[in-house]
Amino acid sequence: MNVLYQPVPEEAVAEVFRTLGQATRIQILLVLGRGEACVCHLEAYLGLRQAVISQHLMVLREAGFVATNRDERHIYYYLAQPGLRDVVRQAARASGLSLQSLEESLARPVSPCPCPHCNPG
Ligand SMILES: [Zn+2]
Repeated sequence: MNVLYQPVPEEAVAEVFRTLGQATRIQILLVLGRGEACVCHLEAYLGLRQAVISQHLMVLREAGFVATNRDERHIYYYLAQPGLRDVVRQAARASGLSLQSLEESLARPVSPCPCPHCNPG
């Protein structure tokens, strides 16, 4: 009998869920689902410290779920796999919540957002 660990292909799918498996990362995906955002925008909407958000962004970026654009002054994160929004929507439904109720909890910044998108011109 082969007692060596044989990873099944489903491990790769489980890894996706492990990567998504934190509330802060779900919040980040929801905010980025509305458009690209810099860390300061996420900071304002999630009400968390930049260091915490950056850590989660790093994990999501390494997984290929988010990617970055930059201009001279800012780095903007965006959803590199927009289909993840559907994963979150279905997971929300399975938990008894609607995507809309999640969106509403992130509708307004916790603190005034200083980002260029929120302060054009
Ligand atoms: Zn902003």
